[in-house]
Amino acid sequence: MKKKIKFFIGMVLVFTFVPYSFAQESWEKARIQMVEEQIVAYGISDPLVLEALRTVPRHEFVPEEMKELAYADTPLPIGYGQTISQPFIVALMTEKAKVKPQDKVLEVGTGSGYQAAVLSAMGCTVYTVEIIQKLVLLAEATLKRLGYQHITVKWGDGYFGWQEASPFDAIIVTCSVDHIPPPLIEQLKEGGTMVIPVGPPWSIQSLWVIEKTLQGLQVEDLGAVRFVPLTREIREK
Ligand code: SAH
Repeated sequence: MKKKIKFFIGMVLVFTFVPYSFAQESWEKARIQMVEEQIVAYGISDPLVLEALRTVPRHEFVPEEMKELAYADTPLPIGYGQTISQPFIVALMTEKAKVKPQDKVLEVGTGSGYQAAVLSAMGCTVYTVEIIQKLVLLAEATLKRLGYQHITVKWGDGYFGWQEASPFDAIIVTCSVDHIPPPLIEQLKEGGTMVIPVGPPWSIQSLWVIEKTLQGLQVEDLGAVRFVPLTREIREK
């Protein structure tokens, strides 16, 4: 009798964990292929960025019905009218922000929490602000479940940055602005870098890389992008 119970438990474990680990393996394959075909092939070379994109399980940051598309070369809806950026754009912004392990980074627009997880995987301490409370709660839950550390998520208007946690080595803004929010410039360290899409809402914007130097701001324009706009309306859902 006891043997039968043990056998039964053994079978349950096998049928639960074998498909699980197969699934994990195929997600990993998809991720490695994504990095080769969509990221390395288009010129991203920072080994830390590439490694983070190979490890962060993007499929865990999208709604159930979007999982199969998680490693495709496209942004995806995450609910509440918002999107998770295309993997290449995440890689580009992270590389251009020149983040290094131990850096303190501000993200404006937490969304799914994916960009924050990439920064955490690179060894950064991340402060991330999101204006929709439901997304804050979801992102916090995802990041906690996956064990990401050194990420603090705040519900609020990221236009004002995060004064108490400043100054930052880098700032990544993942929603578009029609002007650079002055608090973000103030909260950037001398020598720090901000990556931010600038242009009209719901249209084409330019991705700017802004370096704060002793001589003032230096701007590099990386070209056309399309982001959801930075809004000023604090929402619960
Ligand atoms: N970085 C995210 C994608 C963000 S999409 C990810 O990795 O999934 C842009 C996000 O900016 C949306 O979630 C939107 O709600 C948020 N947002 C818009 N205006 C904002 C503001 N003023 N402050 C903070 N977040 C804002």
